[in-house]
Amino acid sequence: RLHNQLQELKGNIRVFCRVRPVLPGEPTPPSGFLLFPSGPGGPSDLPTRLSLSRTDERRGTLSGAPAPMTRHDFSFDRVFPPGSRQDEVFEEISMLVQSALDGYPVCIFAYGQTGSGKTFTMEGGPGGDPQLEGLIPRALRHLFSMAQELGGQGWTYSFVASYVEIYNETVRDLLATGNRKGQGGECEIRRAGPGSEELTVTNARYVPVSCEKEVRALLRLAHQNRAVARTAQNERSSRSHSVFQLQISGEHSSRGLQCGAPLSLVDLAGSERLDPALALGPEERERLRETQAINSSLSTLGLVIMALSNKESHVPYRNSKLTYLLQNSLGGSSKMLMFVNISPLEENVSETLNSLRFASKVN
Ligand code: ADP
Ligand code: MG
Repeated sequence: RLHNQLQELKGNIRVFCRVRPVLPGEPTPPSGFLLFPSGPGGPSDLPTRLSLSRTDERRGTLSGAPAPMTRHDFSFDRVFPPGSRQDEVFEEISMLVQSALDGYPVCIFAYGQTGSGKTFTMEGGPGGDPQLEGLIPRALRHLFSMAQELGGQGWTYSFVASYVEIYNETVRDLLATGNRKGQGGECEIRRAGPGSEELTVTNARYVPVSCEKEVRALLRLAHQNRAVARTAQNERSSRSHSVFQLQISGEHSSRGLQCGAPLSLVDLAGSERLDPALALGPEERERLRETQAINSSLSTLGLVIMALSNKESHVPYRNSKLTYLLQNSLGGSSKMLMFVNISPLEENVSETLNSLRFASKVN
Protein backbone atom coordinates (compact mmCIF):
# COMPACT_ATOMS: atom_id res chain seq x y z
CA ARG A 1 0.00 0.00 0.00
CA LEU A 2 2.75 2.45 0.98
CA HIS A 3 4.76 1.51 -2.09
CA ASN A 4 1.70 2.06 -4.28
CA GLN A 5 1.17 5.51 -2.84
CA LEU A 6 4.81 6.51 -3.38
CA GLN A 7 4.66 5.31 -6.96
CA GLU A 8 1.62 7.40 -7.63
CA LEU A 9 3.11 10.51 -6.06
CA LYS A 10 5.43 10.75 -9.05
CA GLY A 11 2.66 12.21 -11.15
CA ASN A 12 1.60 15.73 -10.20
CA ILE A 13 -2.12 15.44 -10.81
CA ARG A 14 -4.42 12.72 -9.66
CA VAL A 15 -8.18 12.37 -9.85
CA PHE A 16 -10.31 10.36 -7.43
CA CYS A 17 -14.00 9.78 -7.98
CA ARG A 18 -16.25 9.42 -4.94
CA VAL A 19 -19.87 8.34 -5.17
CA ARG A 20 -22.05 9.30 -2.23
CA PRO A 21 -24.60 6.79 -0.92
CA VAL A 22 -28.32 7.01 -1.58
CA LEU A 23 -29.73 8.93 1.41
CA PRO A 24 -32.83 7.90 3.38
CA GLY A 25 -35.94 8.93 1.48
CA GLU A 26 -34.22 9.05 -1.91
CA PRO A 27 -35.32 6.72 -4.72
CA THR A 28 -33.15 3.66 -5.27
CA PRO A 29 -31.41 3.91 -8.66
CA PRO A 30 -32.13 1.09 -11.15
CA SER A 31 -29.74 -1.84 -11.04
CA GLY A 32 -26.81 -1.47 -13.41
CA PHE A 33 -27.04 2.33 -13.33
CA LEU A 34 -23.54 2.67 -11.81
CA LEU A 35 -20.95 -0.11 -12.00
CA PHE A 36 -17.59 -0.28 -10.22
CA PRO A 37 -15.19 -2.76 -11.78
CA SER A 38 -12.45 -3.79 -9.33
CA GLY A 39 -8.98 -2.32 -9.07
CA PRO A 40 -5.72 -3.25 -10.79
CA GLY A 41 -4.47 -5.50 -8.01
CA GLY A 42 -7.56 -7.66 -7.57
CA PRO A 43 -10.93 -7.36 -5.87
CA SER A 44 -9.47 -6.19 -2.53
CA ASP A 45 -8.04 -3.05 -4.10
CA LEU A 46 -10.13 0.02 -4.70
CA PRO A 47 -11.65 0.21 -8.15
CA THR A 48 -10.22 2.60 -10.72
CA ARG A 49 -13.00 2.33 -13.27
CA LEU A 50 -16.62 3.31 -13.18
CA SER A 51 -19.38 2.84 -15.74
CA LEU A 52 -22.66 4.64 -15.93
CA SER A 53 -25.57 3.27 -17.93
CA ARG A 54 -28.09 5.83 -18.94
CA THR A 55 -31.55 4.93 -20.13
CA ASP A 56 -32.31 6.60 -23.42
CA GLU A 57 -36.01 7.34 -22.86
CA ARG A 58 -36.68 9.01 -26.21
CA ARG A 59 -35.32 6.17 -28.29
CA GLY A 60 -37.38 3.75 -26.22
CA THR A 61 -40.67 5.55 -26.79
CA LEU A 62 -40.10 5.99 -30.49
CA SER A 63 -39.52 2.33 -31.23
CA GLY A 64 -42.08 1.10 -28.69
CA ALA A 65 -39.43 -1.29 -27.37
CA PRO A 66 -37.94 -1.07 -23.85
CA ALA A 67 -35.65 1.96 -23.56
CA PRO A 68 -32.09 1.03 -24.55
CA MET A 69 -29.17 1.79 -22.23
CA THR A 70 -26.16 3.84 -23.27
CA ARG A 71 -23.03 2.96 -21.36
CA HIS A 72 -20.28 5.46 -20.51
CA ASP A 73 -16.94 4.24 -19.15
CA PHE A 74 -14.52 6.30 -17.06
CA SER A 75 -11.16 5.61 -15.53
CA PHE A 76 -9.61 7.44 -12.56
CA ASP A 77 -6.73 6.97 -10.13
CA ARG A 78 -9.25 5.67 -7.60
CA VAL A 79 -12.98 5.22 -7.42
CA PHE A 80 -14.66 5.23 -4.00
CA PRO A 81 -18.02 3.42 -4.10
CA PRO A 82 -20.89 4.64 -1.89
CA GLY A 83 -19.93 2.50 1.12
CA SER A 84 -16.42 4.00 1.45
CA ARG A 85 -15.67 5.33 4.90
CA GLN A 86 -13.92 8.62 5.67
CA ASP A 87 -10.88 6.84 7.15
CA GLU A 88 -10.53 4.67 4.02
CA VAL A 89 -10.56 7.77 1.85
CA PHE A 90 -8.01 9.50 4.05
CA GLU A 91 -5.71 6.49 4.03
CA GLU A 92 -5.33 6.94 0.28
CA ILE A 93 -4.14 10.52 0.61
CA SER A 94 -2.17 10.61 3.87
CA MET A 95 1.15 10.38 2.00
CA LEU A 96 0.17 13.19 -0.31
CA VAL A 97 -0.73 15.42 2.65
CA GLN A 98 2.50 14.49 4.38
CA SER A 99 4.61 15.60 1.44
CA ALA A 100 3.74 19.22 2.34
CA LEU A 101 6.08 18.79 5.33
CA ASP A 102 8.89 18.03 2.87
CA GLY A 103 8.23 21.23 0.94
CA TYR A 104 5.81 20.18 -1.80
CA PRO A 105 2.81 22.48 -2.14
CA VAL A 106 -0.30 20.30 -1.99
CA CYS A 107 -3.69 21.21 -3.31
CA ILE A 108 -6.81 19.08 -2.93
CA PHE A 109 -10.14 19.98 -4.55
CA ALA A 110 -13.67 18.67 -4.27
CA TYR A 111 -15.58 19.16 -7.53
CA GLY A 112 -19.20 18.26 -8.20
CA GLN A 113 -22.80 19.39 -8.25
CA THR A 114 -24.51 20.64 -5.07
CA GLY A 115 -25.51 17.69 -2.90
CA SER A 116 -22.87 15.31 -4.28
CA GLY A 117 -20.80 15.12 -1.06
CA LYS A 118 -18.06 17.75 -1.46
CA THR A 119 -18.47 19.25 2.02
CA PHE A 120 -18.88 15.77 3.50
CA THR A 121 -15.54 14.82 1.92
CA MET A 122 -13.70 18.00 2.93
CA GLU A 123 -15.12 18.91 6.34
CA GLY A 124 -17.12 15.87 7.35
CA GLY A 125 -20.63 14.72 8.17
CA PRO A 126 -23.11 16.45 10.44
CA GLY A 127 -23.15 16.29 14.23
CA GLY A 128 -19.42 16.14 14.96
CA ASP A 129 -19.27 12.32 14.80
CA PRO A 130 -15.50 11.54 14.80
CA GLN A 131 -15.98 8.67 12.31
CA LEU A 132 -17.55 11.12 9.86
CA GLU A 133 -14.73 13.66 10.12
CA GLY A 134 -13.57 14.77 6.71
CA LEU A 135 -10.28 15.51 5.12
CA ILE A 136 -9.48 18.86 6.76
CA PRO A 137 -9.50 17.66 10.39
CA ARG A 138 -7.84 14.36 9.43
CA ALA A 139 -5.11 16.03 7.40
CA LEU A 140 -4.28 18.45 10.20
CA ARG A 141 -4.24 15.73 12.84
CA HIS A 142 -1.89 13.70 10.64
CA LEU A 143 0.42 16.67 10.08
CA PHE A 144 0.55 17.52 13.79
CA SER A 145 1.49 13.97 14.69
CA MET A 146 4.10 13.68 11.91
CA ALA A 147 5.57 17.02 12.99
CA GLN A 148 5.86 15.72 16.52
CA GLU A 149 7.70 12.63 15.26
CA LEU A 150 10.07 14.77 13.21
CA GLY A 151 10.65 16.86 16.33
CA GLY A 152 12.72 13.94 17.62
CA GLN A 153 15.04 14.42 14.63
CA GLY A 154 15.59 18.11 15.31
CA TRP A 155 12.77 19.61 13.22
CA THR A 156 10.41 22.26 14.56
CA TYR A 157 7.25 22.90 12.58
CA SER A 158 4.73 25.69 12.80
CA PHE A 159 1.32 25.90 11.13
CA VAL A 160 -0.82 28.91 10.27
CA ALA A 161 -4.38 28.45 9.01
CA SER A 162 -6.66 30.66 6.95
CA TYR A 163 -10.12 29.98 5.57
CA VAL A 164 -11.78 32.18 2.98
CA GLU A 165 -14.79 32.02 0.73
CA ILE A 166 -14.81 33.22 -2.88
CA TYR A 167 -18.29 34.20 -3.94
CA ASN A 168 -19.05 35.91 -7.23
CA GLU A 169 -15.36 36.87 -7.53
CA THR A 170 -15.30 38.53 -4.10
CA VAL A 171 -13.22 37.17 -1.25
CA ARG A 172 -14.56 36.96 2.30
CA ASP A 173 -12.92 35.77 5.51
CA LEU A 174 -14.62 32.75 7.07
CA LEU A 175 -12.57 33.21 10.24
CA ALA A 176 -13.78 36.77 10.89
CA THR A 177 -14.77 37.47 14.49
CA GLY A 178 -16.45 40.30 16.39
CA ASN A 179 -18.33 42.88 14.34
CA ARG A 180 -16.83 41.60 11.08
CA LYS A 181 -18.51 38.25 11.67
CA GLY A 182 -20.84 37.15 8.89
CA GLN A 183 -19.88 39.93 6.51
CA GLY A 184 -16.13 40.14 6.87
CA GLY A 185 -15.31 43.38 5.00
CA GLU A 186 -13.63 43.32 1.63
CA CYS A 187 -10.65 41.07 1.28
CA GLU A 188 -8.17 41.35 -1.54
CA ILE A 189 -5.55 38.95 -2.79
CA ARG A 190 -2.18 40.72 -2.73
CA ARG A 191 1.52 39.94 -2.89
CA ALA A 192 2.87 39.56 0.65
CA GLY A 193 5.46 42.28 0.01
CA PRO A 194 7.23 44.11 -2.80
CA GLY A 195 8.92 41.55 -5.02
CA SER A 196 7.47 38.71 -2.96
CA GLU A 197 6.16 35.60 -4.68
CA GLU A 198 3.91 34.85 -1.74
CA LEU A 199 0.23 35.82 -1.86
CA THR A 200 -1.88 36.84 1.10
CA VAL A 201 -5.47 37.87 1.58
CA THR A 202 -5.74 41.34 3.11
CA ASN A 203 -8.17 41.66 6.04
CA ALA A 204 -8.26 37.89 6.52
CA ARG A 205 -7.14 36.25 9.75
CA TYR A 206 -4.12 33.98 9.69
CA VAL A 207 -4.34 31.85 12.82
CA PRO A 208 -1.46 29.78 14.26
CA VAL A 209 -2.65 26.25 15.05
CA SER A 210 -0.92 23.42 16.85
CA CYS A 211 -3.61 21.00 17.97
CA GLU A 212 -6.85 19.37 16.88
CA LYS A 213 -8.94 21.39 19.30
CA GLU A 214 -7.88 24.67 17.70
CA VAL A 215 -8.71 23.33 14.25
CA ARG A 216 -12.16 22.22 15.35
CA ALA A 217 -12.80 25.69 16.77
CA LEU A 218 -11.85 27.29 13.43
CA LEU A 219 -14.13 24.95 11.47
CA ARG A 220 -16.98 25.81 13.84
CA LEU A 221 -16.33 29.53 13.40
CA ALA A 222 -16.32 29.15 9.58
CA HIS A 223 -19.58 27.25 9.83
CA GLN A 224 -21.18 30.06 11.88
CA ASN A 225 -19.91 32.70 9.47
CA ARG A 226 -21.46 30.84 6.57
CA ALA A 227 -24.75 30.42 8.43
CA VAL A 228 -24.97 34.16 9.18
CA ALA A 229 -24.49 35.01 5.52
CA ARG A 230 -26.94 32.40 4.35
CA THR A 231 -29.91 34.08 6.02
CA ALA A 232 -29.24 37.13 3.84
CA GLN A 233 -28.38 35.27 0.68
CA ASN A 234 -30.07 32.05 -0.13
CA GLU A 235 -27.95 28.97 -0.82
CA ARG A 236 -24.86 31.12 -0.96
CA SER A 237 -22.63 28.36 0.33
CA SER A 238 -23.36 26.14 -2.67
CA ARG A 239 -22.35 28.97 -4.98
CA SER A 240 -19.04 29.82 -3.39
CA HIS A 241 -15.62 28.22 -3.22
CA SER A 242 -14.27 27.58 0.31
CA VAL A 243 -10.49 27.64 0.50
CA PHE A 244 -8.79 26.30 3.62
CA GLN A 245 -5.05 26.97 3.58
CA LEU A 246 -2.34 25.87 5.94
CA GLN A 247 1.06 27.53 5.72
CA ILE A 248 3.65 25.06 6.95
CA SER A 249 7.17 26.01 7.95
CA GLY A 250 9.82 23.71 9.33
CA GLU A 251 13.27 24.46 10.65
CA HIS A 252 16.09 22.15 11.61
CA SER A 253 17.78 23.18 14.84
CA SER A 254 21.38 22.25 14.07
CA ARG A 255 21.62 21.82 10.31
CA GLY A 256 20.25 25.28 9.49
CA LEU A 257 17.68 23.84 7.10
CA GLN A 258 14.23 25.21 6.36
CA CYS A 259 11.31 23.67 4.55
CA GLY A 260 7.55 23.71 4.27
CA ALA A 261 4.86 24.54 1.77
CA PRO A 262 1.20 25.48 1.67
CA LEU A 263 -1.51 22.85 1.92
CA SER A 264 -4.76 24.00 0.27
CA LEU A 265 -8.06 22.18 0.72
CA VAL A 266 -10.77 23.52 -1.54
CA ASP A 267 -14.51 22.84 -1.45
CA LEU A 268 -15.53 24.14 -4.87
CA ALA A 269 -18.84 25.77 -5.74
CA GLY A 270 -21.55 23.49 -7.12
CA SER A 271 -20.79 22.71 -10.76
CA GLU A 272 -24.45 22.49 -11.84
CA ARG A 273 -25.64 24.63 -14.68
CA LEU A 274 -28.72 26.81 -14.59
CA ASP A 275 -30.90 26.86 -17.68
CA PRO A 276 -31.01 30.48 -18.97
CA ALA A 277 -34.47 29.80 -20.41
CA LEU A 278 -35.76 29.31 -16.85
CA ALA A 279 -34.26 32.54 -15.48
CA LEU A 280 -37.11 35.03 -15.59
CA GLY A 281 -37.56 37.01 -12.35
CA PRO A 282 -34.97 39.38 -10.82
CA GLU A 283 -33.97 36.74 -8.27
CA GLU A 284 -33.42 34.15 -10.97
CA ARG A 285 -31.46 36.65 -13.02
CA GLU A 286 -29.18 37.25 -10.02
CA ARG A 287 -28.75 33.50 -9.66
CA LEU A 288 -27.90 33.17 -13.33
CA ARG A 289 -25.22 35.85 -12.97
CA GLU A 290 -23.77 33.95 -10.02
CA THR A 291 -23.85 30.68 -11.90
CA GLN A 292 -22.01 32.23 -14.80
CA ALA A 293 -19.33 33.56 -12.44
CA ILE A 294 -19.02 30.10 -10.88
CA ASN A 295 -18.90 28.34 -14.22
CA SER A 296 -16.26 30.69 -15.52
CA SER A 297 -14.06 30.23 -12.44
CA LEU A 298 -14.52 26.45 -12.58
CA SER A 299 -13.64 26.40 -16.25
CA THR A 300 -10.63 28.64 -15.57
CA LEU A 301 -9.54 26.07 -12.99
CA GLY A 302 -9.90 23.35 -15.62
CA LEU A 303 -7.89 25.40 -18.12
CA VAL A 304 -5.15 26.08 -15.56
CA ILE A 305 -4.86 22.40 -14.71
CA MET A 306 -4.79 21.41 -18.37
CA ALA A 307 -2.17 24.07 -19.18
CA LEU A 308 -0.03 22.73 -16.33
CA SER A 309 -0.35 19.10 -17.33
CA ASN A 310 0.46 19.96 -20.97
CA LYS A 311 3.42 22.03 -19.73
CA GLU A 312 2.22 25.07 -21.64
CA SER A 313 4.22 28.28 -21.20
CA HIS A 314 1.19 30.42 -20.38
CA VAL A 315 -1.00 29.38 -17.45
CA PRO A 316 -4.08 31.65 -17.04
CA TYR A 317 -3.90 31.96 -13.22
CA ARG A 318 -5.04 35.56 -13.28
CA ASN A 319 -8.37 34.81 -14.97
CA SER A 320 -10.12 34.01 -11.69
CA LYS A 321 -9.70 34.86 -8.00
CA LEU A 322 -9.58 31.17 -7.15
CA THR A 323 -6.67 30.28 -9.43
CA TYR A 324 -4.87 33.50 -8.55
CA LEU A 325 -5.06 32.70 -4.83
CA LEU A 326 -3.85 29.16 -5.49
CA GLN A 327 -1.16 30.19 -7.96
CA ASN A 328 1.70 29.05 -5.70
CA SER A 329 -0.01 25.77 -4.86
CA LEU A 330 -0.55 24.74 -8.47
CA GLY A 331 2.30 24.01 -10.83
CA GLY A 332 6.02 23.78 -10.15
CA SER A 333 6.77 21.03 -7.67
CA SER A 334 3.22 21.00 -6.35
CA LYS A 335 1.03 17.94 -6.07
CA MET A 336 -2.62 18.13 -6.92
CA LEU A 337 -5.58 15.91 -6.27
CA MET A 338 -9.11 16.39 -7.47
CA PHE A 339 -12.05 14.58 -5.96
CA VAL A 340 -14.93 14.41 -8.35
CA ASN A 341 -17.96 13.87 -6.13
CA ILE A 342 -21.00 12.38 -7.79
CA SER A 343 -24.57 11.56 -6.85
CA PRO A 344 -25.85 7.98 -7.22
CA LEU A 345 -29.32 9.17 -8.25
CA GLU A 346 -30.75 8.68 -11.71
CA GLU A 347 -32.33 12.15 -11.66
CA ASN A 348 -28.83 13.68 -11.45
CA VAL A 349 -27.46 11.72 -14.40
CA SER A 350 -26.82 14.73 -16.68
CA GLU A 351 -24.82 16.63 -14.06
CA THR A 352 -23.04 13.42 -13.07
CA LEU A 353 -21.94 12.91 -16.68
CA ASN A 354 -20.80 16.55 -16.87
CA SER A 355 -18.71 16.09 -13.73
CA LEU A 356 -17.19 12.82 -14.91
CA ARG A 357 -16.30 14.37 -18.26
CA PHE A 358 -14.73 17.42 -16.59
CA ALA A 359 -12.68 15.14 -14.34
CA SER A 360 -11.57 12.96 -17.26
CA LYS A 361 -10.35 16.06 -19.06
CA VAL A 362 -8.07 17.17 -16.23
CA ASN A 363 -6.84 13.64 -15.51
P1 ADP B 1 -22.18 19.23 -1.32
O1 ADP B 1 -21.22 19.86 -0.37
O2 ADP B 1 -21.53 18.67 -2.54
O3 ADP B 1 -23.33 20.12 -1.67
P2 ADP B 1 -22.83 17.58 0.94
O4 ADP B 1 -21.46 17.19 1.38
O5 ADP B 1 -23.51 18.65 1.72
O6 ADP B 1 -22.83 17.96 -0.61
O7 ADP B 1 -23.70 16.23 0.91
C1 ADP B 1 -25.10 16.24 0.67
C2 ADP B 1 -25.76 15.32 1.70
O8 ADP B 1 -25.31 13.98 1.54
C3 ADP B 1 -25.45 15.69 3.12
O9 ADP B 1 -26.59 15.44 3.90
C4 ADP B 1 -24.32 14.75 3.50
O10 ADP B 1 -24.26 14.51 4.88
C5 ADP B 1 -24.70 13.50 2.72
N1 ADP B 1 -23.50 12.72 2.30
C6 ADP B 1 -22.62 13.10 1.35
N2 ADP B 1 -21.65 12.19 1.18
C7 ADP B 1 -21.93 11.20 2.07
C8 ADP B 1 -21.28 9.95 2.41
N3 ADP B 1 -20.16 9.54 1.78
N4 ADP B 1 -21.84 9.20 3.36
C9 ADP B 1 -22.97 9.61 3.99
N5 ADP B 1 -23.63 10.74 3.72
C10 ADP B 1 -23.12 11.54 2.78
MG1 MG C 1 -21.25 21.85 0.30
